[in-house]
Formats: sequence, C-alpha cells, structure tokens
Amino acid sequence: MQIVSDIESLRSVLAERRRHGERIALVPTMGNLHEGHFSLIQQARQHADFVVASVFVNPTQFGPNEDLARYPRTPDQDAQGLREYACDVLFMPTVETMYPFGAEQGVRVSVPGLGNLLEGAIRPGHFDGVATVVTKLFNLVQPDIAVFGMKDYQQLLVIRRFVRDLCLPLRILGAPIVRESNGLARSSRNQYLDSAQRDQAAAIHDALLWVRDQVVAGVDALSAIEVAASQRLAHAGLASDYVVVRRRTDLEEPVLGQREDLVVLIAARVGGVRLIDNLEILPTS
Ligand code: AMP
Repeated sequence: MQIVSDIESLRSVLAERRRHGERIALVPTMGNLHEGHFSLIQQARQHADFVVASVFVNPTQFGPNEDLARYPRTPDQDAQGLREYACDVLFMPTVETMYPFGAEQGVRVSVPGLGNLLEGAIRPGHFDGVATVVTKLFNLVQPDIAVFGMKDYQQLLVIRRFVRDLCLPLRILGAPIVRESNGLARSSRNQYLDSAQRDQAAAIHDALLWVRDQVVAGVDALSAIEVAASQRLAHAGLASDYVVVRRRTDLEEPVLGQREDLVVLIAARVGGVRLIDNLEILPTS
C-alpha cells in the first residue's frame, strides 16, 4: 500500500491505474479506523480494481463547540489496518492541501433543506463541511465509485443529493452498519465509553428495533412511538437529542396515511458521549 499526502503524487498514481483501465473506488474517512471502516474497504474492493482510502480530519465539519483538536488521530494504526485489508493507496493530506485558501475562506458546497435538519439543525454547518470536503476528495481522486456507511444515514443522503445535483460522474454505495455483539453501532466514540456505559448504549439499538416493530405492527401514531422510545432511552440513562421516524428519501416527516419507506433515526448521549444510529424500516421487515 502506498501512502501519499500531496495532490501530485496522488494524481500520478491514479493516472497510471486509469491507463490500465482499472476501476477506482474511494473510501473517505477521518481515521481512527475500526471494523466499520474496514467493511467499507471490503465493499469497495468488491466493486473496483483499485481502492483508495483517505484519512483527513476535516476542520470545516466541526462546530465551534466541538473539539477538533481532541479528535483521535492514529495514523500508524490506520495504515496498518488498511494494509491488512489490502487497500491500495492511503491518501493523508494536510489541511493546507485540502484548503489552499484557508478553511474559512474556501469555497463551500451547501445542501439546503436536507443538510439543515436533524444533525444539521443540532450541528449548524456540519453538512456544508462534509459536502465541501467530499466534493474536493471526489475531484482529487475522480473515483468510479465511493463507499459510505449507512451509520451516518443523513450524511449518505446529503452526499447522494449533491452528487446528483452537481452531476458528478460516480456511483455512491451505502454499506450496512457494523455493530458490536450487543447491537451498539461501531464508532470511534465508543472508546470513550466505560463498560457500564457500553451496556447502557445498547439501549439505542433496542429502541430502534422497538420502534421498527411498532411501525411494522401497524401503529400509525408515529409521534407517540417516538416519545415512548425516547422514554425507554431515558429509562436506560440516555438523554436523547432526537428519536424520529422519517421518510428514507429526504428525512422529511412521513405523510399521514401514505405508505412510504421509512427510517428510524436516534441521537442520544451516554455520559458526555454523543452517539447516532438508525434503522431502515423496509416493506418486508
Ligand atoms: P468517519 O471516519 O467517522 O468519518 O467515518 C468514515 C466512514 O465510515 C463513513 O462513511 C461512516 O458512515 C463509516 N462508518 C463509521 N462507522 C461505521 C459502522 N459502524 N458501520 C458502517 N460504516 C461505518
């Protein structure tokens, strides 16, 4: 696996692969990699000949009260893991490389509506930062496909939205959520949980399953289900930011009486650790 940090080296490696007619996949990450991330590499490998992973802690997606400096950075461990999963290139740019005019002065990509609800409402500007950096990564790598986790469901929709709206020539794949044995979605933030909190955090997955079961059983008072699920979380010692059932396509509230594909989304805090998770409610579930 090659590790590159400058644009010129990245482009020359990729030009060579393209000359050989290879299909290129990109897996963008912020590092501190775990099994969830590696599952994306595996998925990328199944759809492409050449797999590029990026590790970049993107300053523009952090709010003023979110501690960018404290984000866990484990480059050596990440490189080792990616090697084991047969990633071909690890791209680790500096902030200056990604933001030549400075993080504040650079051009922004913004996704109105979808980018401003739920996570976007709680973390203003977050999805502008994500859309901006991912657009830059797409322009740098020019991949045929890019793989993102369904763990960050709204992020995946935001990315699909700007890819379509900006007519970007690549395919976006969503990869299933990788979970711990107790149902807790794998996340870099789980390392901040002690073992009692890990047990508590399993209540998020339990709540997702419970909500899904209610909806599938035909209970149509969605707001009552949401409130009850939030109480279940509170009972387990978790403070929820939101528990909502939304349309899978745009995360808007479902139209009463209309059968639509839905998703349950939860953001909740255990101690000081904020966790997000979701579960699609498929017609067959
Ligand atoms: P991050 O490094 O947190 O920005 O995540 C990079 C990518 O990994 C994103 O597309 C995430 O959705 C994905 N990811 C993170 N955790 C998981 C997980 N538990 N299962 C599947 N994908 C994940």
